[in-house]
Amino acid sequence: MDMDVEMETTDVIICGCGPTGALLSALLGRKSTKNTVLEREMEVVTDPRGIALDEDGIRLLQEVDLYDKVYSEIGEPISHVWFTSGKDGLKTKPFMHMDMSTTEGGSGHVGGICHRQPVMEKYLRQSAVACAPTSELRLGCTITQIEEDEDHVRVKYTDDSLGGVEKWIKGKFLVGADGKTGFTRKMYLEKRGVVLESLPGYEYQETWVAVNYHMDLPTPETHPDFPLWKLGYTPQGVYDAFFPVHFRFIGNPDRPSVCGTFGLRKERLWRFEYVVDKAKGEDPVEMATYDKMAAVIFPYLTHPGKTYGLESPVQYPVDCIHVLRSRPFSFSARSCNKWSVGRVVLCGDAAHVMPPFGGQGIASGFRDASGIAWRLVLACRPPAQGGLVSKPGSTSTYHERLFSGWCLERKQQLDISIASTVANGELTTARNPIKVFVRDWILWFMQLIPSLRRKLELGPRSEGMVRYKYVDGMAFLPDLFGGRQLPQVYCRAVGIISSSSSSSSSSTTSSRGETDRVGAVGEVEFTDDVIFRPESLSSLRLLVLVDALSDVAKARDELSQLNIEHLSNNEVKMSEVCYLVMSSAGCSDSTGVDVKAGTKSSAAQGVNGNVHSNGNGNGAIVTESTDQNKTKKKEEEEEEDMVLTTMQNKRVYRIATGDEFAACRLCRNRPPPTGYDMLRVRAEVGGRKYVLVRPDRFTFAACRSGAELAGACGRIAGVLFGTP
Ligand SMILES: Cc1cc2nc3c(=O)[nH]c(=O)nc-3n(C[C@H](O)[C@H](O)[C@H](O)COP(=O)(O)OP(=O)(O)OC[C@H]3O[C@@H](n4cnc5c(N)ncnc54)[C@H](O)[C@@H]3O)c2cc1C
Repeated sequence: MDMDVEMETTDVIICGCGPTGALLSALLGRKSTKNTVLEREMEVVTDPRGIALDEDGIRLLQEVDLYDKVYSEIGEPISHVWFTSGKDGLKTKPFMHMDMSTTEGGSGHVGGICHRQPVMEKYLRQSAVACAPTSELRLGCTITQIEEDEDHVRVKYTDDSLGGVEKWIKGKFLVGADGKTGFTRKMYLEKRGVVLESLPGYEYQETWVAVNYHMDLPTPETHPDFPLWKLGYTPQGVYDAFFPVHFRFIGNPDRPSVCGTFGLRKERLWRFEYVVDKAKGEDPVEMATYDKMAAVIFPYLTHPGKTYGLESPVQYPVDCIHVLRSRPFSFSARSCNKWSVGRVVLCGDAAHVMPPFGGQGIASGFRDASGIAWRLVLACRPPAQGGLVSKPGSTSTYHERLFSGWCLERKQQLDISIASTVANGELTTARNPIKVFVRDWILWFMQLIPSLRRKLELGPRSEGMVRYKYVDGMAFLPDLFGGRQLPQVYCRAVGIISSSSSSSSSSTTSSRGETDRVGAVGEVEFTDDVIFRPESLSSLRLLVLVDALSDVAKARDELSQLNIEHLSNNEVKMSEVCYLVMSSAGCSDSTGVDVKAGTKSSAAQGVNGNVHSNGNGNGAIVTESTDQNKTKKKEEEEEEDMVLTTMQNKRVYRIATGDEFAACRLCRNRPPPTGYDMLRVRAEVGGRKYVLVRPDRFTFAACRSGAELAGACGRIAGVLFGTP
């Protein structure tokens, strides 16, 4: 093609800047992979569609530096999800509930947030744009044609920001993140054999009306006759009485519904969804009109007078209820048979759709983006930087193996999301009275058994973290604990400053009279943030799990004998190895924390000595030991200091307790980490010492010894690229 000479080029073209495309751009940008996002609309779509995001989604927002926005601007933790039956409004007690407030899922986060999708998308775009010029976002640009050859994809688009001018751009790959009716699948890949198909056993097809409201607060001035003022209610108290905190699946057999608050509670946004009964001849559009909507929903916003000791029912003032949007949506559960063909890949709703009952739509698109991003980075890598060429003179890499492995893994996990979503839906949408009766009794009975009750409360999290069942082509070593989602815990840096060099420390002075070694303990961090430090370049990170601080030097010695960079063809770098100390031995630092137990020791709680803040607001505590313990402790410290001096800036961390996390700034606006297991990383990798971790937080391999690690490093190229 002649115009190739003139054509603008990039590495990855992304069609669509919904949550999936924006996250993908942010991830690629952080790895310096050139990408251009073409988005049809000029602005973020203001209609909030998704309102619930699970903990994997939060973890990925954290990865692109949005953690500080998650609980302050994007949303709030979903505390509990209630499943109710009957017709008695939002005050009905649940027959079952899920507890989303704990940190038992293994990601270090709560189970989920209720959020405002446009706010999340705004920040995702900012996160992508922050990677400029590597990531570029072009708004008002609609892709209208796709062409592909062995080495490139060419895309024609109309640029509305330039009055509708037509342009071409060439890339190594195209990712269609253009939603469920997107151009990439419908107009290009369907002709190449891609089909959206149902998951056998989990077919779903229903139409729901989804209504978004904004509620005003009634006041004694605006609504002087409102009966609850006489009972001492405040305007906020009235809102809280009518719009309870917990998310609700209302199994009303007349009309199953779902409702809950979204975004920040103070914004008073409320979602209500109800099913359209097509079997009864209901018309979806008509069911979304104001009158029909009011007939379905307003009874839930009307309380019996007896609730308040009054004779007449009390309704939330209708003029305080503002409908932002009421329209029908058709929901089905399907995913594509193939998610990539040649150089074109599908992500997010373009590759799969599901009903919204599990809060899995956006999270699934995020997982797609996370899994494909690092593979695209590898596939776009020029040969000079380790990229593999498939034939002399070609820039092609072994991308097909990478992409098909991604699809195999993603489909396995997606099937779980679809299954749990459809199961949630079925719990709610049962309309047959006998089925409803049996469901309620079975669940009531199950909850009499504590272990079963806890399983129900945990919902899908009770199944533990994802472990792929190996299929040839997946990018991990199944014989070495590969393919397991790596938990995230909290940690603190150690060994940055030793006593001998502590004159430069600004940390507190302990009652020992020396400049305290609190300076040797950094702020609480998430382990993802330290394992995957942004400046790191290696494709796989080596995480070393050791029992005690003194084991770090031994592990480092062992690694230095191995020459892992050479063995791994530079996919693993020694300078980026992260050491995580898993126990208190040699690490009973001046926080007084018993690392093994995960709780503060009695000394730290001030029973045996003084409790000081370390002055940096992270809640670390300095304790004075009893005289008896002093000598022993000093000996231990001297030994430890020797280790510390040799470990300055060497990426050495120790796991942090839930209490330490609760006291640090990362815990702001979210509940303390109940159910947090600080030893979970080790448990998940079978107690192994050397863990090779992929950028999408799945293990490539977990090894017991240096020799096993050497073997694993030697297998990386074969597994990822299929090269001998
Ligand atoms: C009523 C409702 C409730 C929902 N509730 C939830 C929920 O609680 N939790 C949840 O996780 N999910 C929920 N979802 C689903 C969620 O909104 C989607 O999964 C999510 O938006 C998909 O993101 P995406 O980026 O893959 O696609 P989209 O958000 O659809 O983004 C695609 C983008 O591509 C652009 N585009 C399309 N064609 C072109 C083209 N030719 N050229 C350039 N750009 C193009 C579009 O303008 C759009 O910006 C809900 C959806 C609905 C409708």
